[in-house]
Amino acid sequence: MTVIGEVSVPTYAFRCPHCGGFDVVRPMREAGAPARCPECGSAARRVFESPALRAGDPGVRRALEASERSADEPAVVSSVPGRSRKAIPTSRDPRHARLPRP
Ligand SMILES: [Zn+2]
Repeated sequence: MTVIGEVSVPTYAFRCPHCGGFDVVRPMREAGAPARCPECGSAARRVFESPALRAGDPGVRRALEASERSADEPAVVSSVPGRSRKAIPTSRDPRHARLPRP
């Protein structure tokens, strides 16, 4: 929130496809209006994420940005995750092996 005069105006996060994220301070009634990147003038997309998270831990920020990138261009893996790991038995009690399986 940024206070302009008597009115508190929320900050909206946008992302330029070329330059990255930037914030726009505007009245709530204009929240959905398109924004232009201040660097290159391209049309920017609104980003829906918590400002508190964005401002915090850089690791959290990287994870959020990776998650956002992955929404448009899913990362490709060469193998199924978790396949190589051996199944870890959760119990060594032989009676547990006789219990009904789902
Ligand atoms: Zn830009």
